[in-house]
Amino acid sequence: MKSMPDAKNNRTKPWDDDPLGLGRIDSDRALLTQFDATAEELGQRLETLWHKARKTTDEEYEPAPGITIRVEEYGGRISCSFGHSGSYAKGRMMVITQDLRLSISPLSIHMIKSHGFFGGRGSPHRIEPNQIVRLLRSIP
Ligand SMILES: [Zn+2]
Repeated sequence: MKSMPDAKNNRTKPWDDDPLGLGRIDSDRALLTQFDATAEELGQRLETLWHKARKTTDEEYEPAPGITIRVEEYGGRISCSFGHSGSYAKGRMMVITQDLRLSISPLSIHMIKSHGFFGGRGSPHRIEPNQIVRLLRSIP
């Protein structure tokens, strides 16, 4: 009988040892220091944007010229993967600028604000901190 391939020897990506990508928190924090920003402050501003965008009666919210935000809400709630008691609305805001297209969910905003977590490397949900900094700096 053939033995199963050993998963440990089958790793092709360096981050397989860290499936949640938690190792990114420290490197993201270091990166933000270079931008003179903190994850908490960015998360706070994203949260404000989310609330403003979902309250708008127009189809799209424009926090600044050339920046469009469209909110999609799916109903239901999702809990934080860090295992604390909060739960967050399912949905996302699509932020569209000339050179950016970001999908940001209330859970991502919470993860950024409270845990400094922008998503693991290679995750489709990861939001690059430098893009958030660039976006928020172009909104007064
Ligand atoms: Zn949490």
